Amino acid sequence: MNRIDFRSDTVTKPTPGMLDAMMSAKVGDDVFGEDPTVNALEEKLAAMFNMEAAMFCPSGTMSNQIAIKCFTNPMDEVICDQTAHVYRYEGGGIAYNSLASVRLLNGDRGILTPEMIEPEINADNIHYPNSSLVVLENTVNKGGGKCYSLSQIEPIHNLCAIKGIKLHLDGARLFNALIATGDRASAYGKYFDGISICLSKGLGAPVGSVFLSSKAVRRKAEKIRKVLGGGMRQAGFLAAAGIYALDHHINRLADDHKNAKALAAALSKANYVSYVMPVETNIVLFDVTPNYKADQVIKALEAKGILCNSTSNQTIRFVTHLDVSSAMVDQAIEILSNLTI
Ligand SMILES: *Cc1c(COP(=O)(O)O)cnc(C)c1O
Repeated sequence: MNRIDFRSDTVTKPTPGMLDAMMSAKVGDDVFGEDPTVNALEEKLAAMFNMEAAMFCPSGTMSNQIAIKCFTNPMDEVICDQTAHVYRYEGGGIAYNSLASVRLLNGDRGILTPEMIEPEINADNIHYPNSSLVVLENTVNKGGGKCYSLSQIEPIHNLCAIKGIKLHLDGARLFNALIATGDRASAYGKYFDGISICLSKGLGAPVGSVFLSSKAVRRKAEKIRKVLGGGMRQAGFLAAAGIYALDHHINRLADDHKNAKALAAALSKANYVSYVMPVETNIVLFDVTPNYKADQVIKALEAKGILCNSTSNQTIRFVTHLDVSSAMVDQAIEILSNLTI
């Protein structure tokens, strides 16, 4: 039985074209700064986003954690939404790596506004941690792939600039947001001190994330990456996959979004589904009716060849990606519409 894997957009395998690009990559020792393909990837992304510098990292988690370390001092406080990946899914890394505390806000599906952030910025007082960093996530993973538009980001940037607070973007799925909103990558650089971008999610590379920043921040970031064990040698084989993905896999994200919307429409008609979160990008979050548990529905789907995960007792997540074709989505819709549990 051929399986349709909606568990995550990280499950994709390199395409033949991507593998060719990897096999023929020119490489060198990146810890010496001598890998031409890593350098090319970094220059390409920095230029795309109008940032001074970029640094290739093994994972999005490392890229975010390096950013937080760069932008805080011990005893500082990081402000982010309660759904934030940096808080929930990075193993307590903010405390472990940066000795910082976290102020959690309740955004709308993870989307924050300046009005939510401003009252949570601590005054200069000996009792209070120093609020030094705001982290936004675009798209919001746990918010069902909801996007910020740049018009929502600009006033947050303005607030942070007035308050002297750094602003970092966890842009694991930033290209999904760019495709959905129509915002331009080149407009992003001026709003953020740091941006993390995953190559291994919707873009379909096997490994890698890039941290964008100023040149001065990159120097500090490079040392932190080394300390964390993320200094890689002939990493150009991996960077080549990233370059290939940037050249070939950005515009096709629109297909993933279309597929996610089609799945959501089918799910909203299913008798075992009580709620489907409106879809903006490639993530579908839906609740099963109270007479079922998410795990029962997941089991029934697995028996029919559909793989997915739960995000709570009642909630299931589908993620569309490069390795899910529209024919597979049609097949999945057929299964979802006729499922008996
Ligand atoms: C996947 C993801 C990351 C980083 O994940 P890695 O698996 O470490 O590459 C960071 N933020 C968000 C929102 C993510 O979805």
